[in-house]
Amino acid sequence: MSLSDNLSPESACIHAGEVDDQFGAVVAPIYQTSTFRFRDTDHGAALFAGTDEGYIYTRMLNPTIQACEKAVAMLEGGAYGLGCASGMAAINTIFVHGLHAGDHVVCSDSVYGPTHTLLTTIFAKWNIESTFVDTSNLDAVERNMRPETRMVFVESPGNPTLVISDIERCADIAHAHGAVLVVDNTFMSPILQQPFTLGADIVVHSMTKFLNGHADVVAGMIVVKDKEMYQSMRKILNQVGGVIDPFNSFLVHRGIKTLALRMERHCANAAKIAEYLERHEKVARVFYPGLPSHPQYVVAQKQHKGPGGMITFELKGGIEAGKTMMNNVRLCQLAVSLGGVESLIQHPASMTHACLTKEDREKAHITDGMVRLSVGIENVDELIEDLEQAMSKI
Ligand SMILES: *Cc1c(COP(=O)(O)O)cnc(C)c1O
Repeated sequence: MSLSDNLSPESACIHAGEVDDQFGAVVAPIYQTSTFRFRDTDHGAALFAGTDEGYIYTRMLNPTIQACEKAVAMLEGGAYGLGCASGMAAINTIFVHGLHAGDHVVCSDSVYGPTHTLLTTIFAKWNIESTFVDTSNLDAVERNMRPETRMVFVESPGNPTLVISDIERCADIAHAHGAVLVVDNTFMSPILQQPFTLGADIVVHSMTKFLNGHADVVAGMIVVKDKEMYQSMRKILNQVGGVIDPFNSFLVHRGIKTLALRMERHCANAAKIAEYLERHEKVARVFYPGLPSHPQYVVAQKQHKGPGGMITFELKGGIEAGKTMMNNVRLCQLAVSLGGVESLIQHPASMTHACLTKEDREKAHITDGMVRLSVGIENVDELIEDLEQAMSKI
């Protein structure tokens, strides 16, 4: 079967990345092999020269990995995927590929903690400077662009504040200054947000989260539109070596089959829970893109196909109340990560964003009292019951 580009997301989730194998397997088989036999020396030489298509070595290309790459690229509306060992391996590959000594990066201030640290420790060491700005404030983005700005890196919704940046406008600013726009689309998945349609040049995912969706894989994906960019990025990935393996590709590809269905339930559950929290007497503030109280509600409505499964909130009793709540949940589990079928709750200031200084956290509006909830696909009434009993202990 050949897939047309205008397949609906629901059908694309099921069929994207199919392979033609000799037995007619319905699902892309796991080619759990490190290397591939050449027919003869001429064949091997032709594969290395690129005049023949085929597989050489799994770090370079592998059919199972390629199937998963094609699936994500298709869902994102991009052209090429590059499967990586983790979301961080993907982000590192993008930076290594796109940045040279003396370059400058403008990056969302409420960004995944290790992305911030990667720029401020490793890339700073190589004379690549980064400015962290509230990318929901377009004037701030514009103001911080320099002649040597090569990359604008936007995570939207932001982490963990769920602040929303106008991707289309960020793309315009980046392009006007000759920079590329990279969007970390982990929190939304391609079902709810497609950055390429908004002008992004590169989309990156931690597939550990919604794409795989079952909390049993660590993996990442880079998606690009441009063939030349793909080819040079593939070379870099092959050299830095942070590739995904065939088995994890298989698991992620399997997870993607239910992505559209899962996102529907994540959104429905989270919307109900966000409304419940916003009405709750012990809750001071709820950050959720589906609530009209969200500061960028209008941008969210324009940019998202659904409000997503992530909620951040503050209890009136601050961090002590938050600890009591987090220590008393039963159905929700106290753990970092997100986007899986199970609901997870965590405390950004002491967990996912502990790697930032308190000053950097304050700049990014990450307060000590914030609690982040990744809403799973359990029965929503039971989730609310669980949150209620945990908050009753405060
Ligand atoms: C988890 C996450 C990452 C890093 O991904 P890993 O797979 O854990 O390396 C990057 N960005 C966002 C938004 C994430 O949530």
